[in-house]
Amino acid sequence: MFVSDVLVIGGGIAGLSVAARLSEHAIVTVLEGESAPGYHASGRSVAFAHYGLGNEPVRALTALSMVELAVHASVHPALHIAHEGDMRALDALEEVHRHFACDYARIGPEEARALMPCLKPEACAAALVDHGSLKLDTHAMLQAHVATIRANRGAVIPEARVALIGHEGGRWVAVREDGTRHGAPVLVNAAGAWADEVARMAGVTPVGIEPRRRTVISFPAPEGEDVHAWPFTKTVGEGFYLLPEGRGQLLASSMDQTPSAPCDAAAEELDKAIAADRVEQATTLPIRRISHSWAGLRSFAPDELPVIGEAAGAPGFIWCAGQGGAGFQTAPALSRIAAAAALGLAFPEDAATAGLTFATFSPARLGA
Ligand SMILES: Cc1cc2nc3c(=O)[nH]c(=O)nc-3n(C[C@H](O)[C@H](O)[C@H](O)COP(=O)(O)OP(=O)(O)OC[C@H]3O[C@@H](n4cnc5c(N)ncnc54)[C@H](O)[C@@H]3O)c2cc1C
Repeated sequence: MFVSDVLVIGGGIAGLSVAARLSEHAIVTVLEGESAPGYHASGRSVAFAHYGLGNEPVRALTALSMVELAVHASVHPALHIAHEGDMRALDALEEVHRHFACDYARIGPEEARALMPCLKPEACAAALVDHGSLKLDTHAMLQAHVATIRANRGAVIPEARVALIGHEGGRWVAVREDGTRHGAPVLVNAAGAWADEVARMAGVTPVGIEPRRRTVISFPAPEGEDVHAWPFTKTVGEGFYLLPEGRGQLLASSMDQTPSAPCDAAAEELDKAIAADRVEQATTLPIRRISHSWAGLRSFAPDELPVIGEAAGAPGFIWCAGQGGAGFQTAPALSRIAAAAALGLAFPEDAATAGLTFATFSPARLGA
């Protein structure tokens, strides 16, 4: 059996970010079932950090993460657009930006169209522009964590799908599909959409993680138009988001969230068509050809808060799941909280000052 201090199941942003933190204190082994880290949700995000999603704790985690995120990111504005009927939602979002002292402005439709020239007049009655949002380099984030883990004598092992989990001699023992055994007193469950499945394997009560599929389409920008400076544009209510991918391509999503079993998610024709239709309704962009598309699973606990902390009655089994649609933008803060839970350390001071506690994220709130 290969023995380490900590086993982490899952090589997405959740597993790698907590493993990198833990590797400063312990020998860590990350077991990833696919051929490369980031194959599932973490390789399919649109790589943006902003305050236009999530609930209060998720936004607090985002705020606590911004400085560290900036290492692998560039500043890029986010434009939150609202119809007449969405003014209360826009007001609430403005309050969030005020609370976090963002560099933002409430603007009218003309100013919004100056920033995003393709918007149809009827698509935007008012807007909020956040000048401090970040376009993330998620590949660099993942690779930096892998490098840290390896530099600290830890291992990130691809093609290491865990099929069985037991507990013997004070250690969690993860048995890979090829029969290889890995043991450690601490096991971190960072298996994304499969987090409940991993808990069940270990005889731990599942928390009710629900994977939800989200679809993204990519299409060419209008001929001759350099779109790289267009803001990340998102409706405050139901609708779509749209953002540049380099100079000549645009990405869009209808922000679908269809419940799904854990799987290698693929974009469905109807979801692609809805995304294209919503963009065409609200903008002057003709989508003649979808260049490529993909889908990924965003995984939520029933109350849409991350699940971080030790499972009741299972010493050393640490949940690190339920990052929803904000796994990258919350990873710097969330990984510190998860590492503190795994090492039995005090709750991070800055997060406590923001009103968060271990109890905010504990699996105990979900009866697990
Ligand atoms: C379309 C889309 C857009 C998004 N946009 C953003 C964004 O702009 N900003 C943002 O912050 N977030 C965004 N997200 C959310 C973000 O991608 C997720 O929150 C994050 O990637 C979740 O990370 P994870 O490590 O928990 O999951 P994953 O990346 O899915 O990693 C879990 C890993 O566990 C492995 N695993 C599972 N079971 C086993 C097993 N038995 N043995 C070994 N390995 C196992 C899987 O193979 C997988 O690699 C987006 C998500 C989607 C789908």
